[in-house]
Amino acid sequence: MTTIGVLALQGDFIEHEAALRRLGVDAREVRTPEELRGLDGLIIPGGESTTFCRLMADFALYEPLRALLAAGVPAWGTCAGMIVLACQAPGLDFPTLEALDIEVLRNAYGRQVQSFEADLDVPALGEQPFHAVFIRAPVVAGAGPGVEVLAGVRDERSGRETPVAVRQGCVLATSFHPELTDDTRFHQYFLEIVRGAGRASSPK
Ligand code: GLN
Repeated sequence: MTTIGVLALQGDFIEHEAALRRLGVDAREVRTPEELRGLDGLIIPGGESTTFCRLMADFALYEPLRALLAAGVPAWGTCAGMIVLACQAPGLDFPTLEALDIEVLRNAYGRQVQSFEADLDVPALGEQPFHAVFIRAPVVAGAGPGVEVLAGVRDERSGRETPVAVRQGCVLATSFHPELTDDTRFHQYFLEIVRGAGRASSPK
């Protein structure tokens, strides 16, 4: 059975677990390095990135998490989780896990739109738009050449698209919260990444 770990230091990990269980997947709360063992994938939920990082340091999770990501175990970060996975998060007082070649700016949507909802066009999920909930979301200010943009929102002023769902290999990040809606297509998409990675690493 597929086992997905959900970092359970703070934030909305319970909502991710519920979505995974609805899809018939084993969800394990992770708070210690031991609980990272044998995972097929890891989700870093929404919450507060500074708090996550402080607790990751307190619980000695930085190095085991880095090792897990370096070993190619798929990971998905939502909102604060995206910040923790990013290579660059200026202004964050802690190091990130540097697993995804993006630069994120915390709480950088304009004051009036700090929290908003939008129907996103996400071709990777099919034709039906995905209703996305943004809560003090990070802005993806830059992405390296290996990063695929799965969805964006249009900035009214500049007319430019800001990426809000990105993927680099088996690392996925969304600046919004699919775990807060009933639409499980992003969780399903992540499970496809996990199953693909499992096939790639299983012995012939
Ligand atoms: N603003 C939060 C941060 O900087 C993220 C908010 C969220 O996860 N909803 O960590």
